[in-house]
Amino acid sequence: MNIIFMGPPGAGKGTQAERIVEYYNIPHISTGDAFRAAMKQGTPLGIEAKRYVDQGLLVPDEITIGIVRERLQEQDCEPGFLLDGFPRTISQAEALSGIVQAMNRKIDFCIDLLVDRNLLLARLTGRRICKSCGATYHVMFNSPKEEGICDKCSGELYQRSDDTEEKVGTRLDEYLNKTAPLLDYYRTKGILRQVNGEQDIDVVSANIQSVLRGLTE
Ligand code: ADP
Ligand code: ADP
Ligand code: ZN
Repeated sequence: MNIIFMGPPGAGKGTQAERIVEYYNIPHISTGDAFRAAMKQGTPLGIEAKRYVDQGLLVPDEITIGIVRERLQEQDCEPGFLLDGFPRTISQAEALSGIVQAMNRKIDFCIDLLVDRNLLLARLTGRRICKSCGATYHVMFNSPKEEGICDKCSGELYQRSDDTEEKVGTRLDEYLNKTAPLLDYYRTKGILRQVNGEQDIDVVSANIQSVLRGLTE
């Protein structure tokens, strides 16, 4: 199963990806996570990416495509993969198409999570992430048992520096201008499936599962 998760920042891509990859036993490939890891380590890639990520802007295509091209060659992608937050531009989508063709593979589904803008704002500003394992929480909608502590690994929770109201505005604009046009790209290919992302986390997961099993259109 080769899957893309699309949808604006805060739609629930990461949250749903955590569950789907566990079920299908495929790697979760998040370009956002890759940039944050590189930024934390202070690698040349991280230093370059930080200039964009900190402003809520998309990192240039050449950089982003290179990361995904390398990652998809790794052994663990053999049974399939879930791309979360890639592609985000038409050039990235075209590059991805070339990469999977060269691997004699195809993308099975592009899942788009639909969530209203006001709800996205509330989700992003209340999002908290585990420093140790990367699990995602929300202060109101998906709170950990103990405030500030990860249920899974007892790691410390933190707020992403781009999850402020000001940066979120820029990120949503980037999505509308550069990423939303991709919906038509995948609709034309016949693999776009839209799922209501405003329901409970478990309901959204069940609906995604139905789509992946080919049970719903
Ligand atoms: P979210 O989960 O809120 O959608 P991500 O963690 O996926 O955000 O991405 C965080 C930031 O990383 C983006 O705002 C952007 O700067 C950068 N980024 C992630 N994926 C891409 C991509 N495919 N192309 C360009 N920039 C990206
Ligand atoms: P994305 O990866 O698309 O940016 P996340 O999965 O990180 O989105 O979710 C954004 C925030 O919204 C997180 O704090 C998460 O806990 C919360 N969230 C995700 N899905 C739901 C849902 N179905 N209902 C309520 N809150 C949700
Ligand atoms: Zn954790």
